[in-house]
Amino acid sequence: SIMPATLSAITNGARWGLLFKGGVHIENLAHIQAIAFDKTGTLTNGKPKVTDCVVSSSIEEKHLLHITASIENESNHPLAKALVDYATQQGVSLRNVDHMKDVSGKGVTAKIDGEEWRVGKPEFVGKEEAYSFQGGITESLAQQGKTVIFVKRDDRVVGLFALKDTVREDTKKAIQGLKKRGVYTIMLTGDNPMTASVIAHEIGIDHYVAECMPEQKVNEVKKLKQHFNQVAMVGDGINDAPALATANVGVAMGEGTDVALETADVVLMKNHLSKIVQAMKLSERMNRVVK
Ligand code: ADP
Ligand code: MG
Repeated sequence: SIMPATLSAITNGARWGLLFKGGVHIENLAHIQAIAFDKTGTLTNGKPKVTDCVVSSSIEEKHLLHITASIENESNHPLAKALVDYATQQGVSLRNVDHMKDVSGKGVTAKIDGEEWRVGKPEFVGKEEAYSFQGGITESLAQQGKTVIFVKRDDRVVGLFALKDTVREDTKKAIQGLKKRGVYTIMLTGDNPMTASVIAHEIGIDHYVAECMPEQKVNEVKKLKQHFNQVAMVGDGINDAPALATANVGVAMGEGTDVALETADVVLMKNHLSKIVQAMKLSERMNRVVK
C-alpha cells in the first residue's frame, strides 16, 4: 500500500505541475547525482527562427528559399518548420517534391527537375566546403549561437540559412539550482560544437556533447551511469525516449512528443525545468519521513 508521505508528495508535485508515475521515482530523485539534458525543445523553446540567409552568386535568394522550403515541408524537424514558416512569410510559394528523404540527425535530400538537392548540417554537404562558404561566414554565425543549415545543388553549396532558438525562461535558474546541490549537468545536442559551446556557456551548464546522434544519447547516459550512482535524463523528442528509459529517472517535457511522455517516469506538465530542483527537495523531505 502507498505510504501517506508518498501520497502527500505526489499530491504536492501535482500542484506544482509535476506528474510522478509512481512513488519510487520521487524517492529516487533525491539521490540523483547527474542530469543529462536534450537541447532543442528541452533547454531551449524548440521554436527556432530564421535570422540569416546567404546565397552564392549562382542562385537567387527567392529560388533557394522556394526549393529549400518545398523539401523541408515534408519533414517534421523543428528546423524544417522554421524554414517553411520563413518562406511563407516572405510570400514564397511551395511546390511538390518527389523522392524526399529525411536523414535523422543530419538533414534532408530530394531530386527536383533532375537536380540533386541536400539540406542540412556541414557534414551532410561536405564539412570543408560548408565552413569555407562565402569567406567562412559560418563561424561568425555559430558564434552568435545560431544553427547553420547548408543547401547543396548537385555538387555545389549554393546557400545557407542561420536559425536561432531561444533558451527557456527558467533554464538558467534550473541549472544554477542543480549546481548548488552538487548535481553534474550535461547537454546533449545534434548541433555543431561551435553553436553548442555558445549555448552551453549562456546556460551555465557543466558540460556538453555536440554532434550527438539520436542513438548516441543512450550511450552518453550509460557512460554517466558508470560514474554516478543515480542519473536522470530530461528530454522532449521521440529521439530522446531510449535515453529516458536508460536513465534511473526519465523526465519528459509536458509539451513533448507522446513517445517521450509515455517512456518517462516524471512529466514536467508546464515545461518548467526549475521544478526539478523543487522536486528533489520534496523527495528529500519525503524520504526523511518514510525512513
Ligand atoms: P537537435 O539535437 O539539435 O534537435 P537533431 O539530432 O535532430 O538535432 O539534428 C542534428 C542536426 O542535423 C541539426 O542541427 C541540423 O543541422 C541537421 N538536421 C536534422 N534534420 C534536419 C532537417 N530536416 N533539415 C535541415 N537540417 C537538419
Ligand atoms: Mg529535443
